Amino acid sequence: MEISTRAKKLEPSVTLAAAAKANALKAEGQDILSLTVGEPDFTTPKNIQQAAIQAIENGKASYYTPSAGIKELREAVVKYIKTFYQLSYQSKNVIITDGAKFALYLLFQAVLNPNDEVLIPVPYWVSYGEQVKLAEGVPVFISCTQENEFKVTVEQLEAAKTDKTKLLILNSPSNPTGMIYSEAELRKIGEWAVLNDILIVSDDIYGRLVYNGATFTPIATLSEAIQKQTIIINGVSKSYAMTGWRIGYAVGDETIISAMNDIASQSTSNPTAVSQYAAVEALIGEQDTVETMRVAFEERLNKIYPMFAALPGFKLEKPHGAFYLFPNIKETLNMCGYTDVTKWVDDLLTEAHVALVTGAGFGAPEHVRISYATDLATLEEAVKRIAAFIEKKSVN
Ligand SMILES: *Cc1c(COP(=O)(O)O)cnc(C)c1O
Repeated sequence: MEISTRAKKLEPSVTLAAAAKANALKAEGQDILSLTVGEPDFTTPKNIQQAAIQAIENGKASYYTPSAGIKELREAVVKYIKTFYQLSYQSKNVIITDGAKFALYLLFQAVLNPNDEVLIPVPYWVSYGEQVKLAEGVPVFISCTQENEFKVTVEQLEAAKTDKTKLLILNSPSNPTGMIYSEAELRKIGEWAVLNDILIVSDDIYGRLVYNGATFTPIATLSEAIQKQTIIINGVSKSYAMTGWRIGYAVGDETIISAMNDIASQSTSNPTAVSQYAAVEALIGEQDTVETMRVAFEERLNKIYPMFAALPGFKLEKPHGAFYLFPNIKETLNMCGYTDVTKWVDDLLTEAHVALVTGAGFGAPEHVRISYATDLATLEEAVKRIAAFIEKKSVN
């Protein structure tokens, strides 16, 4: 049986593939340092674990839930957005999904018709373009420069806009670059989107993970008109160390949320019940652990940034959020005699036993992505190995 054209055209996630490769080598007993996958290395805070255990023991976790999520969790999201965004929504504006990734998927399925265009600033998170294609939309990639911290400008958006443009995806703080849009930049973009009736998809998943005094401004907070024009995508994975629980959410226009829910009801039925009860505690329970984890990431960033920035040929600004470094390594590739970053990353893994992710999957083939959501000792050892690898290759 031949597989579908749709499945054949799909690029599998490069980050998950890189992590899988690193894990396979580890399983063979090799000493691999993996800086690949984008997930906190902390375990889920105890209070959240306890809430899950309780939901299992009292039987609540045994049953299907409404496809848009349990009432308690949708209300917790409303409360959370009120607290952290100072924005008012009702439960009918909220859908709980199997991770923020599936919130995005449902959104594209719910709003895109064939050939509708979606503006995606480059570098982008690996799944945006592929999910748009799965919904028969057309990803329109806009190259952003390192000089402008990889941020898209209204001029670039205006140049990329056509009468088919329907959505704009923003991700601040950004995976992979760690850069954050300022309030002024977002205001201009938001006003442009309102003027052109383009829906803003605001992927706020790293909003709580900002460092060294940087602030996260959610675009939806900038005016009532911009709020109406925005669908907020968020989740508990990154802020609460809950990637395995698979709980995300979307907040915005009731008609869109309702269409997303119809699709969810015919596909996943509902996100896992036990995870939903855990997520209620995450969002409205004690928040101190979020700050503890944030501080740990900040300390690591401050420690390892200068070390990676000093690697021969590595060119990178210091990120302000998320947990990645995204250096341009064009010069390093030249020094090492490579033209293809993915090949360099492969050889680094097999020869130096350090796993990074190729920038190619993020639309940036001169870059690598380094996750620092791992312990300091691993990061320090990885820097040494990368330096030795570059030296070895440069001599040859
Ligand atoms: C991790 C991530 C997501 C998805 O997270 P879930 O685990 O599916 O909630 C979405 N967007 C970006 C930019 C991410 O890095």
